[in-house]
This record gives sequence, structure tokens and C-alpha cells, in this order.
Amino acid sequence: MVIHLEYVSLSDCVGVIPLRTNIGIVCHNDSCVIIDTGLDEKAGKHIFKTAQELGLKIKAIVNTHSHSDHYGGNVFLKGKTDALVYAPSREALVIENPWLEPLWFSCGASVFEGLRNKFLMAEACKVDVPITKGRFEIEGISLEAVPLPGHSIGMTGVLSNRTLFCGDALFGEEIIEKHKVLYLHDPDEARKSLNKLLEVDCEFIVPSHGTAVKAQDIQRCVEVNVNAIDSFDSVIIKSLTGSMGVEELTSRALTAVGLTLDDLTKMMLMRSTVLAHVTCLARRGLIKVSVGQAESSLVNRIVCSPV
Ligand SMILES: [Zn+2]
Repeated sequence: MVIHLEYVSLSDCVGVIPLRTNIGIVCHNDSCVIIDTGLDEKAGKHIFKTAQELGLKIKAIVNTHSHSDHYGGNVFLKGKTDALVYAPSREALVIENPWLEPLWFSCGASVFEGLRNKFLMAEACKVDVPITKGRFEIEGISLEAVPLPGHSIGMTGVLSNRTLFCGDALFGEEIIEKHKVLYLHDPDEARKSLNKLLEVDCEFIVPSHGTAVKAQDIQRCVEVNVNAIDSFDSVIIKSLTGSMGVEELTSRALTAVGLTLDDLTKMMLMRSTVLAHVTCLARRGLIKVSVGQAESSLVNRIVCSPV
């Protein structure tokens, strides 16, 4: 692993630009494919400059999923190059229509002003080529789309030259320690995707947040991620001491893990994560979701209850 100031080379033709979101580069001769583009135009400029310094022409962008810190540099890079944008078909909808993202968190209601920000909405970008699963080739560069849903509905990793860029299917251990709770769309799907990582024949897995994981460390890193998901399941079950609404359950669960949130975006992300865990726990018959009275109120609401 050769580390320059702003580029980590994993092999002759694969490397990472370690921004707030890791950016993957896979090259062949003087052409390259960029995997994810960071949060915004600033990230796009950084990627463009780094590719120039490496003597590479950006021929394509592959987005792993539609969270803004993964496609925010698309528009800048498309404007500067003739790159085509590839993205998972189930994620392309949001990349092309970013206003949908805060709409999910507002349950379809007109969106709170506090949710109209660049962390939930990057600049809209047309997706030229939807990807699903399997091999594809760009300018002589062989790539494989590896579906890894769970963190988001259609997240897809990109495998090339024995390196898997796995998006947010896996987080670095230091990231888990810092944030305590992983944002998830579906914890059960996320566990399956983590286990799938163990079957991929590769030398490195590069999470979007954290450092590249060598083959011999993948199992340990996967275990840390699975443990974090299991542990938040347990926190929710323990927090549910009686019938309670989702807001109260969220507040109890966050208190239990020592998280104090004062930001609307982070609060909505955590509320959604608690709901995702509730859905999976209810699917497994471990808790119940119904319309009824919470212990603290006589007014009917959506309540979660122990079974
Ligand atoms: Zn994400």
C-alpha cells in the first residue's frame, strides 16, 4: 500500500482518494473510472485535480448509492469530462431526483426547511447507465457490480482488480466507535450483505468511511459491524419496557447508547434507523407494532410493544 498525500495506491491500477467519503479510482492506461464522488462540487474539484495529477482521464463515474456524500461531485465531474454516470437502478431515482430523499424522512409530507440541506440533497444528476448485478466493462476496465442492500435499498459495491469498493455496507471500526449506531434502511438485509463480503475473493475491501481493510482483517471487521447491528437490536428490545410511540422509543434507545442529538437531519436519520430495526424485530416476532394507546397516553397512536 503506497500512500501519497491525497492518494492511497492499493495496486498498480487501483487506489483511493481519502476524502470525507473515500473515492475509488480504477485505471487502465490513461483512463480511469471513479467510484463515488463525495459530497459536493468541492469534492468533485478535488477528484478532478487528483486524476489530472495522476495523468488520468475520467471516463466514467460509478455511484454505489444515492446518499448525497456519494454522488455530490457528479455534476462538476460530468461538466469537466465526458464521463458517463453508472448507478444501481434502484438508487438512480434519487440521484436524478434528490428532493425524494428528505421527503422519505418527512413521511411524504411537505419537507421541513431544516431537512433541505446538502447532507440530504446533492445536485440532481442524470444516470446514463443503470447497473444491477454482474460484470461490465468501461474503456478496457473490467468491473463487477455486487449488490449489497441494507444501508440503502439498492446499494451496490464495485469489484475490480481484487478490490471491492463496498460503499456503506461496511464501516471502519473507528467509525463505528465514534458514531455508535449505524444508519440502516434494513438491518436484516445489512447483515446478509455483510456476510456476503466474506465470500468475495479480494485483497482489499474499501469502505466509504474508514481505511481499506486487508483480506486477513475482513472477517474481524465484518464481525464488528454485525455486532453493532445486533447490539442496537438489543438496545431497542431493552428500551421497550411497555407500549410506546416511536418518538419515545427513539429517545430511550438513543439515551441508552449515550447519543444526544441536537440536529434535525441526524435526528430524522436515527428515527428512521430505529424504525428499520423495529420492522425487522417485528418481522421476527420479537416485538409488536399496532395502533393503540401508549402507556403514557390515552390517545391512539402507532405503538411498539413487547410480545
Ligand atoms: Zn450512505
